Amino acid sequence: MSETTPICPQCGSNEHYFDGTFTVCLGCGHEWDADAGAENESSLNVKDSNGNPLASGDDVILIKDLKLKGSSSVLKKGAKAKNIRLVEGDHEIDCKIDGIKIMLKACFVKKV
Ligand SMILES: [Zn+2]
Repeated sequence: MSETTPICPQCGSNEHYFDGTFTVCLGCGHEWDADAGAENESSLNVKDSNGNPLASGDDVILIKDLKLKGSSSVLKKGAKAKNIRLVEGDHEIDCKIDGIKIMLKACFVKKV
């Protein structure tokens, strides 16, 4: 179970309830899938290096060594990221590898 309280992506209210499938905001009536993260994920069209569509919750592996920004660590090719989260911005994937939060571009991974 998550300890963080999600807020409504529409109005920012933290007063909402879970109806079994979606979280429903009491403030504006907006429904979203809190388990999957951001409500706009379905509109994200992210593909891995093979052109396979990626979704939040997928597991991926790196297809090349990647240097971590701001660190001397290198993520090795083949390192596995479980339960990725798709995001919008200058990178497409938020994930953790070896407990370290990583931001990845989808072109450097493939779905497993
Ligand atoms: Zn709302």
